[in-house]
Amino acid sequence: MKRLNNQSFRNQKVLIRVDFNVPLNQKLQVVDNTRIHAAKPTIDYVLNNGGSCVLISHLGRPQGISPELSLENIVSEVIKVLNRSVQFHSDCIGEEAEKKSNSLKPGEILLLENLRFYKDESRGEIEFAKKLARHGSVYINDAFGAAHRAHASTTIISKFFKENKFFGKLLEKEVLAIDKVLKSGQKPVLAIIGGAKVSSKITIIESMLDKIDHLIIGGGMVYTFILALKGKIGESICEKNYTEMALEIINKAKKKNVFIHLPIDIVAGNNFSNEAKQKIFDVKNIEKGWQGLDAGPESLKLFQSIILKCNTILWNGPLGVFEFSNFAQGTIKIGEMIAEQTKRGAFSLVGGGDSVFAVKKFGLENKMSYVSTGGGAMLESLEGKHLPGIEALIN
Ligand code: AMP
Repeated sequence: MKRLNNQSFRNQKVLIRVDFNVPLNQKLQVVDNTRIHAAKPTIDYVLNNGGSCVLISHLGRPQGISPELSLENIVSEVIKVLNRSVQFHSDCIGEEAEKKSNSLKPGEILLLENLRFYKDESRGEIEFAKKLARHGSVYINDAFGAAHRAHASTTIISKFFKENKFFGKLLEKEVLAIDKVLKSGQKPVLAIIGGAKVSSKITIIESMLDKIDHLIIGGGMVYTFILALKGKIGESICEKNYTEMALEIINKAKKKNVFIHLPIDIVAGNNFSNEAKQKIFDVKNIEKGWQGLDAGPESLKLFQSIILKCNTILWNGPLGVFEFSNFAQGTIKIGEMIAEQTKRGAFSLVGGGDSVFAVKKFGLENKMSYVSTGGGAMLESLEGKHLPGIEALIN
């Protein structure tokens, strides 16, 4: 892995693939600038070491050119976060764009227009990648959130920078965090997997079974397992087609000496809403007319005893319907327990989708060892897949 370390970029134009795919509101203002902040260390590093930066990114999923997904909308936020001036050009390839990048002086930043205004980006067209490559003599990939895509700017472009291609600081941090859990995690290693459906988490669970000592299962997934174990689940969310698979996981875990922990009790609602009446049930005995929407107090006690003895913790997926404040306690409490164990020296990684959102929502982000910026990319890493963007930098 070629890292940014004692690297001089004196008078070099450095092309950086960043992930500025940030959410915008209806007024086209940035509502969460986490990803811009996350790219700052790499940009600062290049500028402080004598180079200039040409930033390329995608934003959303445009079908052709669409003004509401122009990166021009985020320029003022980029300037604010980087605390530097930033030039913008309304195309990412072509003569004009090249003129702009060629005339950059050390210390200057140029942001180019949304890569996905060209279909060639997602198609991974080599000619398009070649045109992008003309903007720099060095390429840095810092877009972890797009590293699972074999797109022109994330993967194909690497071909044009034989030696001069580097992991950005964010990409490096994400890869190290994953390795710390999957490869060099201090035992006992715990995975907490929640979320709505077993079907979307099955590959992660299977690939984790070789790496972990404990698995806590939470959220809507629980009820497929409970049905498989012949429990009564009332109206709880469930994927009947996956009960066999759930039993297979239980058996595989036994063979691999992984302890699976399911909730003991759950907080149910009499309908799927925040205002639903609440009642606590034994997880295997939920009455008709009720659905499990959060982890119950006994479950949380059990989960706490596991969390407080583990040295490496991965958290993916909420423990309940945390969007409803009345059913968010399980998710909040689990987050607080992980924060507590992190304070005591454990390594904690929160990655992939809604648990990241939950951690931010409940103000726990800075209490975890690492919170991933890449939803899909993190999920695929946890599933044991090699990410093409990362492979291309290494090979
Ligand atoms: P995922 O994206 O797979 O991590 O799933 C996250 C979603 O699962 C969130 O929107 C939660 O509201 C939902 N969820 C968690 N627990 C339950 C539950 N018991 N019943 C229904 N949905 C749930």
